[in-house]
Amino acid sequence: AFGIKTKFVKHVTKEEIAPIINSKTKAVFAELIGNPNLEIVDIKSVADLAHENGAVFILDSTTATPYLINPFDYGADIVVHSTSKYINGGGNSISGVIIDSGNFKWDYDKFKGLAEYKKFGKFAYIAKLRNGIWRNVGGCLAPMNAFMNSVGLETLGLRMERCCHNALKLAEFFESCDGIEVNYPALKASPFYDLCQEELGGKGGAILTIRAGSKERAFKLINGLKLATNATNIGDTRTLVIHPASTIYVHGSEEQKINAGVFGDTIRISVGIEDASDLIEDFKQSIEKL
Ligand SMILES: *Cc1c(COP(=O)(O)O)cnc(C)c1O
Repeated sequence: AFGIKTKFVKHVTKEEIAPIINSKTKAVFAELIGNPNLEIVDIKSVADLAHENGAVFILDSTTATPYLINPFDYGADIVVHSTSKYINGGGNSISGVIIDSGNFKWDYDKFKGLAEYKKFGKFAYIAKLRNGIWRNVGGCLAPMNAFMNSVGLETLGLRMERCCHNALKLAEFFESCDGIEVNYPALKASPFYDLCQEELGGKGGAILTIRAGSKERAFKLINGLKLATNATNIGDTRTLVIHPASTIYVHGSEEQKINAGVFGDTIRISVGIEDASDLIEDFKQSIEKL
């Protein structure tokens, strides 16, 4: 509706983007840890390719959080977060943030909408957001929600340490379960293990997915849990599970689902800050009932 043409790639890699990017491309947009396929982007290689084509690289770093990485260090130009998730931490506010590195060299002939903000220099993009888009379209965070985000932010580091630890423990437990396949980037078996070490300090974030073998088994596993809650959100203090194919991806095509790593037997787990042994116990008793 805004006259923006979008091209998609299956995997956000330099190799897959190269054939579809050119000097007319305005922006490359990606999620750092894709939700829920959990693929990690090699930020530097994609940023270099975007910049060679005069395109700005916008990265959604919600699932990695500012605690695990500052994507500007790897060449991302603009970083966005859904603060509804880890930054808030308690699942009590819907909101987001946009952070501009100020480093992108805007070509004002190409980005004509920014030309009138040229005088703001490094702040041109933020000035356009404030004076143009936000004033005209809205998007104003309520003070109470901003306050709850601020309170949440104070414990972001502590929570991330705990939930990344819990996620790895759970992932290792699932590796030992017959009939369960686990996907978690900090596992040695993951194709993203090396990138996870390089960019995220070896911490794989707090989301993992498992495949239960069939939709029926996935439903049974979810319904058998006593501690983890069946709910949509991620980044909560509590562990949340969901069957993406029948909920958040129910309107996706088969191809979109497969590309997002959503199969009929996939369960997404957003790991909270409970005790790891309690979580393992909960999943263990439910898997034993299958
Ligand atoms: C949830 C989510 C969003 C959307 O954020 P809301 O705050 O729910 O509007 C965007 N990107 C990622 C990676 C998310 O997980």
